[in-house]
Amino acid sequence: MNRADPGFPLPPIGGDPSRGGVGTTPGSFALPGRVGGPLAFSSPDTPGMPAPSTKTAWDFAPAERREPITQLEHARLGRLTPEMRRVAEREPHLTPEQVRDEVAAGRMVIPANRVHLGLGLDPMCIGRASRTKVNANMGASPVSSGTEEEVEKLRFAERWGADTVMDLSTGGDLDATREAIVGAASVPIGTVPIYSMIVGRRLEDLDERAILETVEHQARQGVDYFTIHAGVLREHLPLVRDRLIGIVSRGGSLLARWMLHHQRQNPMYELWDEICEIMRRYDVTFSIGDGLRPGGLADATDRAQLAELQTLGELTERAWRHGVQVMVEGPGHVPFDQIEYNMKLERTLCHGAPFYVLGPLVTDMFPGYDHITSCIGATAAAYHGASMLCYVTPKEHLGLPKKDDVKQGCVAYRIAAHAADVALGIPGSRERDDELTRARAALNWEKHFELSFDPDLARAFHDEDLDVDTDFCAMCGHDWCSVRISKEIQDFVSGKDERYAWDAPRVSAALSAEQRAILEKRGVLGPEQLDRLASKTRQAMGAAPGRHAACHSEAASPERARQLQRERLDPLTLEPLDAEGPGA
Ligand code: SF4
Repeated sequence: MNRADPGFPLPPIGGDPSRGGVGTTPGSFALPGRVGGPLAFSSPDTPGMPAPSTKTAWDFAPAERREPITQLEHARLGRLTPEMRRVAEREPHLTPEQVRDEVAAGRMVIPANRVHLGLGLDPMCIGRASRTKVNANMGASPVSSGTEEEVEKLRFAERWGADTVMDLSTGGDLDATREAIVGAASVPIGTVPIYSMIVGRRLEDLDERAILETVEHQARQGVDYFTIHAGVLREHLPLVRDRLIGIVSRGGSLLARWMLHHQRQNPMYELWDEICEIMRRYDVTFSIGDGLRPGGLADATDRAQLAELQTLGELTERAWRHGVQVMVEGPGHVPFDQIEYNMKLERTLCHGAPFYVLGPLVTDMFPGYDHITSCIGATAAAYHGASMLCYVTPKEHLGLPKKDDVKQGCVAYRIAAHAADVALGIPGSRERDDELTRARAALNWEKHFELSFDPDLARAFHDEDLDVDTDFCAMCGHDWCSVRISKEIQDFVSGKDERYAWDAPRVSAALSAEQRAILEKRGVLGPEQLDRLASKTRQAMGAAPGRHAACHSEAASPERARQLQRERLDPLTLEPLDAEGPGA
C-alpha cells in the first residue's frame, strides 16, 4: 500500500476559485460554474429539492414592442448598455454579453434608477452568475438619529463593504433624508415606500392615490429599488393565526391591518400593474417584499410563508411583462436544515429571479449576537441560491443600529458572502485568501495586515500583545509556533525584507490613532457598566422594577410615548439626558 496516496476518490469537482490554480486542495465541490442557465454557481441538489423552473423572463415578455427604458428591455433587444459594461468590469469573470443575457433571462438585475445614474451611482448587479452581494439597512426612527447621521452611516456602510443600502427611515424628515442619501450614495439605494405613505396619516386612510403618488415621488428622487409587500393577500391572513410570533415584517403587518380594517384585498396587489408602469419609467427594480416571512424558527417554512412565496412568483411574472426588473425577498428565521429547500423553492416558483434574503437567523436565543446567528444562515443561503444578503446587526430585535453596529453587520455579511463565493467556485474569489495564506506562512506581518479585510483591527490585535516584528506571535510564542517550525522545515522564503535578521527582532510600525482607539475601546463597557447604563435609562423612563416604562405601548399612546422619549432621552444615544458617562 502506498501510504502517500490513500487512493480514495474525490467527489466531482467544479472550477478552482483561485485563478492561479495552485494550492493543495482541488477547488469547489459546487456544480461547474457555467454561466447561461439556472445552474451557474449552484450547490448540488440534496435529494428531494425542487428542480429549477423551466421558464425565464423570456417567457413573460410582452407581445407588443415598446421603446426600451429598463435594463431588462434593452437586454431583451440584445443591446449592451453602459451599465452592463460597467458591471462586467466589476465582475471580471463575466463578459458584457453574459451580463446582458442574464438580465434578459431575469436571473440578474442592475438596480440603477436613471435619476441616480445622473447623481453618481456606480452600477452593480445582483444575480447568481455574479458575486454574492450584501445590503446594509439604515434609517432614522422616530426616537433616534437624523439626516446627517444617516448619511454618515451610509459612508460607513460603503466603507465596510455594503453593495447596496436600504433607507428604512420611519422618523425625522423622511424626504430630506432620502434625498441626501441618494445624492451621496455611489451604491444603489432601496426603500420601503409604505413607510412614508403613512407618515402624517392614519394607516386606515391610506388610499390608492397616496400609494401611487409616493411611489412616483420616490422614483423621481432616484431610489433604485423598492420593497413592496404586494404578496400578502387577505386569503393568507388566517394562516398566521397559529404562529408563535405572527407577522414580523413592518410592511406586512401594516398591510394586514389595512386589509382587516377595510375588508379588502391588499392595495399593493391590486395596484401592481400601475406601480409597474411608474417603476418602468425610471427603471426602478422591484424587491418584492415577503410580508409573511417567519419571525422565529417555529414559524419557518409554514403555509403562510409558502403561500405568499407562490404569490411572489405570480407578481414576478407580471412585473416582467411590464419590462421591470425583479428580485424577490426571503426569510428571516429558518433552521439550518431548511435553508436549502427555501432557496430552491424560490428558484422554482420565481423562475430564477434573484433572491434577496434577510439572514436567515438559524437560532433565536442569542439576542445581541444576531449578526453571528444570521450570517451562519446567510452563508448557507448564498451557497444554495440567494444572490444578495441583507445584513443583520448586533442590535437586531433590540434597537436602532449605531455606527459600530453597522460595521459589525457589514463585516459579518462580507464574511458570509465571501465564504459562499469561494465555495461556489466563482473565479478569482479565493485569490486574496491564498495571498494572505502565503504572507501568513512567510510570517510576513506587514503583508498579513495589508491583505486583511480590516487591517487596523488586525495590526492592533497583533501589537496589543507583542509590538515586535518577530517570526512568531503572542498566541503560541517562539518555541511553539508551528508556522515558524514548518517554515524551517520547508525552508520557505520568508518574504521579509533583506534587512530582516532572525536574531534581532524589530519594533513594528507604531499604531495609528485609529488602531490605538480600537485597543482603548476593547472592554470599555463591561457587563456591570452596561447594567448601570440600562438602569439609568429605566429610571429616566419611569419604569419601576417589574413594571413597564411610562412610554410602553400598554401605558401610553404613540404620541405620548414619542413625547416622553424626546423629553427624557438623548435622541442619538438613547441615554438619559441628565446621565453621567457609563463609567460613572
Ligand atoms: S505563534 Fe501560533 S498563532 Fe502566532 S504565527 Fe505562530 S503558529 Fe500562528
